[in-house]
Amino acid sequence: MWYHEFLNKYKAGISHEFLLNFNVRDLVDNCRYIDRFLYEEFIKQRNFGIVAFYDISTGLTFLEPGMEKEFNMITNNKAAELVYSLPSKIFPYIDMALKNTKTILFINHIEKIIPSGDIGSMSIEERMALIWLSEWSISPKISTVGSTIIMMTDNIADVSREILKSSYKVEPILVELPGEQERKTYIEHLLKDNKVRMDLTTDEFAKLSSGLSKKSIKDIKLKAEAEEVPISFEFIKEKKHSVLKKEYGDVLEFIYPEIGFEDIGGMDKAKNYLLKNIVEPIKKNDLRRVPMGILLCGPSGTGKTLLVNALAKSSGFNCVKIDMSRILGQYVGESEKNFKKCLLGAQSQQPVIVFVDEIDTTFRRGDSGDHGVSRNIFSEFLQFASNTNNRGKVIFIAATNRPDLLDAALKRAGRFDKKIPILMPEEKERAEIFRIIIEKYKFTTDITDFMPFAQTAENYTGAEIETVVRKAYEIACERELPESMITSDVLNQAIGKCRPSTKQIEFMTMLAVNECDDKDLLPDQYKDLIDDRERLEELLQEQLL
Ligand code: ADP
Repeated sequence: MWYHEFLNKYKAGISHEFLLNFNVRDLVDNCRYIDRFLYEEFIKQRNFGIVAFYDISTGLTFLEPGMEKEFNMITNNKAAELVYSLPSKIFPYIDMALKNTKTILFINHIEKIIPSGDIGSMSIEERMALIWLSEWSISPKISTVGSTIIMMTDNIADVSREILKSSYKVEPILVELPGEQERKTYIEHLLKDNKVRMDLTTDEFAKLSSGLSKKSIKDIKLKAEAEEVPISFEFIKEKKHSVLKKEYGDVLEFIYPEIGFEDIGGMDKAKNYLLKNIVEPIKKNDLRRVPMGILLCGPSGTGKTLLVNALAKSSGFNCVKIDMSRILGQYVGESEKNFKKCLLGAQSQQPVIVFVDEIDTTFRRGDSGDHGVSRNIFSEFLQFASNTNNRGKVIFIAATNRPDLLDAALKRAGRFDKKIPILMPEEKERAEIFRIIIEKYKFTTDITDFMPFAQTAENYTGAEIETVVRKAYEIACERELPESMITSDVLNQAIGKCRPSTKQIEFMTMLAVNECDDKDLLPDQYKDLIDDRERLEELLQEQLL
């Protein structure tokens, strides 16, 4: 828990200035918010002469009038008129207090005082505040007197990065969202008053509320109370969705998977791998077997996204998609800020599948290209993706049709440690896809055997088969066939009208085969090829020409 980290660092004298960040406006235990919690657990027994609070809107305030008197005495009454003024005016007097009397200073909304961004674009006011705040962290006088400074912010990425430079000693402390056990304890506490009925167990409520703060959990309970409805699975899901959307909707897409493995045609090898190495180990709670990340390689439209959805459904994991176009902002530092928030949001959804589609467009080989992201974002991502504490709780899945363009650091073991080729469907698989897609749309058909159509539709991806089926329905409607029935004749006509785009398919297939290091995941015809890398290289070169 964050408080232990804070206390240990404080007691070990590692620092006397801390930056509490993220879930700082939540309940710490069942009933105390951070300020009261710190007062009762930390401040009370440490004889601070002055307990002061500063934020840019309310100015400087004190816990007790006596403390204000003491402050005025230390500052020779010169600051009495300045308590509502800007940091540059009042900080020099706070400095006197910090160095004279054992003082604890809370600064709320620190991001409003020293916002993130290029130092060159900071106002003189912000720069002055930054200097005071940085210097305090390394002041031996403050340390000897025993004064402490605690700054708070919801998002550390909103705060000027200068303050965290290693030449200073400001310690960031991440205040995490409550874990499952903590949520359960809180839910039990909340429901003690018996004011609402529950249609599910506290365990289920605790599981379902991943990613929510205690405040949001309390809101769910209060809403159920006000609406006079029982707390049900659906009720929580709906409320949770709106909370998460409000909180992270600008940087993350939440996926609520509706399809399962049975709704995907073919891909037996990939499905089997995911079942054996993810779904089953999770059910048995043997997380050692679960890979940290998986890279799905292969041509577009072959069902990679579909597979991620099905995995989320059958593993019972939450699923979020990182969409880099939402994250990359216009202003300096904005992208990094968004990305940080996005990772924290993803992390808070544990257990969670984090999906990055077309990862090659984001994390390209070499330096950041036109569409690429900065090195800061890249290293932040690498760090997060290789955090082994997350094994079995956060699974990264990325999809790409150009694995050759990916940065090598991304492919190194411990990140995307399994690469699964998702190739063009074979004949039998195409027949299955025809059947599945017709069922998906609930179209009527009198066709029972799709093999002949699968033969005609050679080189069609799953996505192209979907286009064919929809075209067939269009034709059936135009011909005014009873129940708009998709007949053999109609389907053949549709295949003739929607030609597959063979563009680069062969090349993308070879790239995916080249990337694969596990023969069990390859169709027979490619198995020999990965033993003969030279031949594979030649084939790739041919495709490139
Ligand atoms: P990718 O992510 O590989 O580009 P998608 O998963 O987005 O491909 O596939 C696009 C659409 O094509 C899917 O929504 C689905 O309707 C259809 N599709 C592709 N492959 C399959 C498959 N194997 N089985 C069923 N439908 C498929």
